[in-house]
Amino acid sequence: MKSYVRSDIAAIRGYASGEQPKAGEQVIKLNTNENPYPPSEAVFEAIRRSADARLSRYPDPFASEFRAAAAALHNVPENTILCGNGSDDLLTILTRTFVASGELLRLPYPSYVLYKTLAELQGAFAEEVRFNDDWSLPSAFSRTPEVGLVDPKTAKRENRLQLTFLPNPNSPSGTVVPKEQITRVVERLPCPIVIDEAYADFAGISCADLVATSPKVIVTRTLSKSYALAGLRFGYCIAHPELISQMNKVKDSYNCDAISIAAATAAILDQEWLTATTQKIVATRERMETSMQQLGFRVVKSFANFTWNTHDSIPVRPIYEHLKSHGILVRYMDYPQWGDGLRISVGTDEQTDRCIELVEQYLTTQKQ
Ligand SMILES: *Cc1c(COP(=O)(O)O)cnc(C)c1O
Repeated sequence: MKSYVRSDIAAIRGYASGEQPKAGEQVIKLNTNENPYPPSEAVFEAIRRSADARLSRYPDPFASEFRAAAAALHNVPENTILCGNGSDDLLTILTRTFVASGELLRLPYPSYVLYKTLAELQGAFAEEVRFNDDWSLPSAFSRTPEVGLVDPKTAKRENRLQLTFLPNPNSPSGTVVPKEQITRVVERLPCPIVIDEAYADFAGISCADLVATSPKVIVTRTLSKSYALAGLRFGYCIAHPELISQMNKVKDSYNCDAISIAAATAAILDQEWLTATTQKIVATRERMETSMQQLGFRVVKSFANFTWNTHDSIPVRPIYEHLKSHGILVRYMDYPQWGDGLRISVGTDEQTDRCIELVEQYLTTQKQ
């Protein structure tokens, strides 16, 4: 069957998303950075209203209602906003709009694994630039490629850097690159840079205002994490209007459905809910960082809704297994040439305490 398929598709592994518990299984899910709290009440009302009124008609292809609300929130013009079926949809649209087969896409390493898959689907090269050991961004990240990479098929050198991805805060570390450094990176880079701000609401910093001063800056946002709407699928990007109109050619005409447009609009209009919820999560995160450090882990300071936990002297994979067998899912990540660790999403206080308690229990049994 494989021979029916495009050979470059058959050759790649594809993106593997985090484990999903089976229906009805009682687990505490701390592996995909979802929000442990229910979304704003206003979201449920908007869903009921739009289901009654809108289902027989195609949705607004440009989600104008949402764009107006997002424009007001970020203090940017409406024509700088493009909506997507989750921010992953926007990352796909961006890759397809800017990077052709044989061209180059740059990303930091370790970071969001999907970027590399998107490059591969496009037949493009992914150039991974390793973070420094302290998760700061090396100056190589903003360099114009000189020699280029060799295309294994044509043996030709390809060095057209077309797009750069930078998640800020980063995953799995939760660390941020300071805005002043991003400004310098933007100036030096020969191509646009996508600042993936999936976790920016937990960090309180954003590069959205840089879009007005540089056409090379593209910011993506999602409602999946901070707004507790991972199941809804809604994200947006902020970019120069000329880039937005090019991207409009690439997206599916009705990439956002009527119910999610209504629900997402209601969600971002409720900033009071957002502030209260992110504050709770940040407080729990800080407690988690301290507890895990006290248990002997190295925990890098996080600006997101998860922490990255590594250990100098004991393997951490068995801890993931131990938690799993007791009904808690966390993410075990092993990055070649970097190392492994546990990425643990911030849950409610009770969920987080239960997780820490089980880690402690595991460590105690190991000592005996
Ligand atoms: C979760 C995540 C996304 C995807 O968000 P969706 O809107 O759910 O598609 C994008 N980028 C990063 C870095 C993420 O962690």
